[in-house]
Amino acid sequence: MRTLIVGGGIAGLCTAWGLARLGHEVALFERGPLPQPLGSSFDQHRLIRHPYGDHEGYARMIDRAFEVWDLLWKDLGSRHHARTGTLALTGNGADWAEVSACTLGRIGRPMTEIPVGELSRRFPLLDPAGLERAFWLETGGLLFAQDIVADLVRHLATRPGVTLHPGTEVREVDPDRARLTTSDGKVHTGDRLVVAAGAWVGRLLPAIGTRVVPSRQVVAYFEPPPEARAAWATAPIVIEKTGDVGLYLAPPAEGRGLKVGDHEFSLRGDPDARRDDATPAEIAPLLKRCRSLLRGFDRWPAPRLQVCFYSVTRDERFIVEPVGRAGWAMSPCSGHGFKFGSVMGYELAATLVHERDPAIHSRWAAGLAGAAPF
Ligand SMILES: Cc1cc2nc3c(=O)[nH]c(=O)nc-3n(C[C@H](O)[C@H](O)[C@H](O)COP(=O)(O)OP(=O)(O)OC[C@H]3O[C@@H](n4cnc5c(N)ncnc54)[C@H](O)[C@@H]3O)c2cc1C
Repeated sequence: MRTLIVGGGIAGLCTAWGLARLGHEVALFERGPLPQPLGSSFDQHRLIRHPYGDHEGYARMIDRAFEVWDLLWKDLGSRHHARTGTLALTGNGADWAEVSACTLGRIGRPMTEIPVGELSRRFPLLDPAGLERAFWLETGGLLFAQDIVADLVRHLATRPGVTLHPGTEVREVDPDRARLTTSDGKVHTGDRLVVAAGAWVGRLLPAIGTRVVPSRQVVAYFEPPPEARAAWATAPIVIEKTGDVGLYLAPPAEGRGLKVGDHEFSLRGDPDARRDDATPAEIAPLLKRCRSLLRGFDRWPAPRLQVCFYSVTRDERFIVEPVGRAGWAMSPCSGHGFKFGSVMGYELAATLVHERDPAIHSRWAAGLAGAAPF
């Protein structure tokens, strides 16, 4: 079987990896370089964590994601993950951390509650004022995203049957006939077509585009002051929700930067527009929360701001669905798709090759089916 894949982010690359492992032919098309710095998959790190609010399907899927990441590390010959543990914090009426702990307790992976009075001793970098509950889990940490995509590209380039087409924009797709046309007018044909075009998906598949909103997100990279650097380097990932503001924090493990972002969707922006125009005003609530949660934050130098795009669905569930007679749309994002990139690609490859039930696959990818049905 020959599969055409549009998009060289984590979703497209992992689908190519899965298909190549099963001995099938792949041609992957990417409009930019490979790896593509403007894709959502390109950044120093992405978080992987078990706590998932009341999304039990995704909470369950994390173990499978870790298994498939392990398989990928074996194939790549290097492991691009730092296990830091996960600290979930909540206050001022927000209940995301408690709900996550309940969900995880129900599926046999309980979180440990840390009394707020003990937080300062265990995590002296944080100021517990305003926090009501704190939960800890040994699992979770960072996936070194840009190293992963770069290594995948290197690996795929050596696999028999895989052809990579960087700098090749796909202008049009025909999912009924598994055909695509590139912007230089060339037509390519296969047996299956997968469109994993991230924030640009609506341009190729307008019906999917009505369900996915590109969302400009600004994150901040900080350089903590020298006296706090070593302590931050061994800190866990932190997810915090207080009232209606919240943040996630990626610690500067293994020489990476310290990144803070929030999960509030802007639901605006054009992924082709300039990205060097972010201002602190765009993340004012996030900076305010940093000031109260991170000790000594007023002494931290100004951050480097970075713009990236989410592709957001209304219910934050992934779209991995058949389109036409021979195509699939693959849009696993809503700001949480990287951690599942490996398992999304690996399982889609298996569904294509073994002709598994597409409806079951889509429900599983949407986090609706509970435990993986495969
Ligand atoms: C700031 C930020 C923080 C995030 N944090 C996390 C996190 O902590 N944990 C987590 O799990 N997830 C996180 N995510 C989400 C995660 O990064 C994305 O869900 C994931 O990377 C999406 O991968 P993708 O392959 O679908 O899209 P992309 O990586 O965007 O890949 C799509 C590719 O398709 C190419 N393309 C588009 N149109 C065409 C065309 N016509 N022809 C050829 N090529 C085309 C694009 O150039 C692009 O390279 C975050 C995202 C952002 C932006």
